[in-house]
Amino acid sequence: MESGTSQPLRDPNQNAAALWADGSPTGLVADRVPAGERRRTPPETQALPLKDRVALVTGSSRGIGRAIADELMRQGAHCVYNCVSSIDALQQLMFGREARPGRSVAVQADVGDPQQCQRLLDRALEEFGRIDILVNNAGITRDRTLRKMTEEDWLKVVNADLNSVFFCTRLALPPMIERGYGRIVNVSSIIGQTGNVGQANYAAAKAGMIGFTKSVAREVARHGITVNAVCPGFIDTDMLAAVPEDARQKIIGNIPLGRFGKSEEVAAMVRFLVCEGAWITGQQFNVNGGMHM
Ligand code: NAP
Repeated sequence: MESGTSQPLRDPNQNAAALWADGSPTGLVADRVPAGERRRTPPETQALPLKDRVALVTGSSRGIGRAIADELMRQGAHCVYNCVSSIDALQQLMFGREARPGRSVAVQADVGDPQQCQRLLDRALEEFGRIDILVNNAGITRDRTLRKMTEEDWLKVVNADLNSVFFCTRLALPPMIERGYGRIVNVSSIIGQTGNVGQANYAAAKAGMIGFTKSVAREVARHGITVNAVCPGFIDTDMLAAVPEDARQKIIGNIPLGRFGKSEEVAAMVRFLVCEGAWITGQQFNVNGGMHM
């Protein structure tokens, strides 16, 4: 067992089964079970690798982030889900699913805004008292060739995709350092490695994440914290659905394994890094069907 696991959570036996909006102006939603109906953790979940760990996954209402958050919960973690606009859909998702070993909360916060990041992290600490795992996944695209790219296109993407990683990581480090344990995974992109026509803003942000990953990995290794980047290729999510069909077919033609990836295939890599990656830091992991080697 890695270090830093001993501190008990406020209520480790509480299972996710029901959910309500807390009605606060902050847009916070928590799923809880009334005290009288709380169940003991079933014996089979006690061996789960992430039991009692707390994960925060930014941009986890759908797509890759949701698959990652769901997978970390399947491994026993408690999880803070996050989105910027689709809190209702996220609420539905959390309400409708089967009970998990851990608890979860959903927090609406724009991670491109440092004050909202502060509120997101404060909420996570208030609910769970610790943060062990941070997955910086939230991201957007605003594709245009550079000649047509506006300042707003540039700033929006760099803010949501790169500045957010700085804001959230900076805030998550002190509680991780305090416990001598942390797993940080930054969801970059194949585009940050290869560049792409019409994506100078996105490529710059995603390449920036890789440099950030390597620098912070060096800074915090002595505290038992690993920092890695995952670089997905083309994954079948809403982000890719925006690409016209003829362009989609061309992309598939350039993928040696002959299809788009699934969010769950990225989540499996994150699970590996979080559960098995105690001696892996500062690396980038390609999940891209062989498109970039
Ligand atoms: P997606 O389906 O479009 O989902 C994006 C998620 O990020 C949503 O949960 C969205 O919340 C959230 N989000 C966006 N901006 C946010 C902000 N400012 N603050 C908080 N949450 C925000 O995207 P995806 O395809 O799953 O991509 C997830 C990550 O993987 C992104 O970083 C993306 O760049 C990267 N990636 C994707 C692909 C791909 O082919 N799909 C390939 C390589 C890398 P709302 O629901 O509220 O909008």
